[in-house]
Amino acid sequence: MIKIFNTETLQLEEFKPIEEGKVRMYVCGPTVYNLIHIGNARPMIVFDTVRRYFEYKGYKVNYVSNFTDVDDKIIKKANEEGVDASVISERYIKECKKDMADLNVKPATTHPQATKEIAGMIEMIQELIDSGHAYVVDDGTVYFSVHSDRQYGKLSHKNLDDLQFNMRGIAVSGEEQKRDPLDFVLWKPKKEGEPYWDSPWCQGRPGWHIECSVMSKRYLGDTIDIHAGGEDLIFPHHENEIAQSECANGKPFVHYWMHNAFLNIDNHKMSKSLGNFKTVREIDAIYDPQVLRLLMLSAHYRSPLNFSAALMDSAKASYERITGCMDNLNFVLGSAADVPMTDEEKESLKAADAFRVSFEKHMDDDFNTADAISDIFDLVRFVNTNAKPDASKAYLEALRKELLTLTDVLGIIAERKQDVAGDEAAWIEEKIAERAAAKKAKDYAKADAIRKELSDKGITLMDTKEGTKWKKD
Ligand code: AMP
Ligand code: ZN
Repeated sequence: MIKIFNTETLQLEEFKPIEEGKVRMYVCGPTVYNLIHIGNARPMIVFDTVRRYFEYKGYKVNYVSNFTDVDDKIIKKANEEGVDASVISERYIKECKKDMADLNVKPATTHPQATKEIAGMIEMIQELIDSGHAYVVDDGTVYFSVHSDRQYGKLSHKNLDDLQFNMRGIAVSGEEQKRDPLDFVLWKPKKEGEPYWDSPWCQGRPGWHIECSVMSKRYLGDTIDIHAGGEDLIFPHHENEIAQSECANGKPFVHYWMHNAFLNIDNHKMSKSLGNFKTVREIDAIYDPQVLRLLMLSAHYRSPLNFSAALMDSAKASYERITGCMDNLNFVLGSAADVPMTDEEKESLKAADAFRVSFEKHMDDDFNTADAISDIFDLVRFVNTNAKPDASKAYLEALRKELLTLTDVLGIIAERKQDVAGDEAAWIEEKIAERAAAKKAKDYAKADAIRKELSDKGITLMDTKEGTKWKKD
C-alpha cells in the first residue's frame, strides 16, 4: 500500500487510483528561458522516481509535464537577442531535454507547451466568464474573481479574509480595474514587442496559471490522481489552478497534491543575485550526472536539501560503491560456472530478498528514498561479500537482477553500457593477455608499453586480485 503526504489535507493518505492500475499525474515544468538550474532538477528527479516506483508496482502512469514557453523572462531574452520568443523557448526546451536525459529522467508521456494550447485556454476562460467566475475589464484583460470560489485557499490553508487584509493598499500598475486585489489574470492585452493571439476579449496572451488547468484537463481529464511541483508553487499557482479547474469543470481537480522542499546552496537560498546559482550543466561538467541524482534522492523530498561540494563528493563515493559492486559482479560472472544453484545459494537469495522487502516498505511510506538508498547499500554489501568466483552463474545473475531492479526504481544507472564494439573489446583482451605474458617473462618495459598503448586510446587498465579489468573513458 503506497502512502502519500497530501499537501491539501496535511495527512499521509493511502493511494487509491481513480482508475484501477493507472496513475494520472501532472508535474509543473520549467519556464524555458535559460539552462535549468539544480533547483529545477529536484522536482524532475523526485517525481520521475515517484513515477518509476508506480511503474515498478505495476501501474501504468500517464505522466504530463509542461514547458512554460510564453512568459516575461522569455520575451525579455528574445528582445535582447533580437529573435522571436519561440527561438528562445525551443532552444531551452532542447537543452532541458538533454539535461533530463543526462539525469536519467524519463521523458513525460506528453510534454505540452503553453503556446500550442491557446485554443483550450480561450475555451476555459470563456466558460469561467459565462459562469460568473471571471470578468472582462475595459482594456480586454480577463480576471478570475477569487471571491466567486468559496473554496479558495483550501490547498495553501489560507483564509480569504487574511489574504484580503494582506493585500490592502497594494495596487499593481496596469491592474487598477481589478474588482478585488486578490483577483488574478487569465488573459491580458498585448504590449509592443510581445507575442500575441486573437481572443474574444483582445489580442493578447494568457496569464500563467491557466495553462496547467487546461493541459491537465486535455491530457488527463477533469480529475487527476496526482499534481506535483516545488513547494513555492502551492500559493498562488496551485491554489489558482484549483480555482480555475473546479469552477470551470464542476468536479474535483486533484486527489493528491505533492510538493518537494527547496534545494539550497551552502545553506543559502539559491538565487541569481547572490551569485550562488548553479546550472545542471555546470555540475555535470565536474561530476557524473548520476551523482547529482543520487544526492537529490539521499534526502526525503519534503525535507530541504543543502547542496555543497562536500555532499557531492560524498554522493560521488556512494555512486562509485554501486558501480564498483556491479563491475565486480560482472567480472566474476564472466568466468562463472554454468551449473545448478546450490541449496546454500538458494538460501542466500532468500536472505537477499529482505533488502527488496525493506526497500518497498520505505518507498511505500511517502517515497522515502533516503532509507530506500540505505537498503540498496545493504544489498551492495551483501553482493560484495557473496559474489565469489566459485559461485554459480545462476546465483550471480539473480544478485545482478536484484541490484539492477532496485537501482532502476530510483533511476540510478548501476551499470554503464560500454560503448565498445566487439572487435575492439577482443583486441583489448588480446593486449591484456600479451601484457600478462610480458609481466610473467619479467619484460616490464613491454608490459608498460602495452599499458601506454591502451591508455592513449582512452582505455584504463586496473589490476585487481581477480585479474586485470579495463574501462574506456
Ligand atoms: P520555474 O521554472 O521557476 O517555474 O521552476 C520549475 C520547477 O522547479 C517548479 O516546480 C519549482 O517549484 C521548482 N524549483 C525552482 N527552484 C527550486 C529549488 N531551489 N529547489 C527545489 N525546487 C525548485
Ligand atoms: Zn503549473
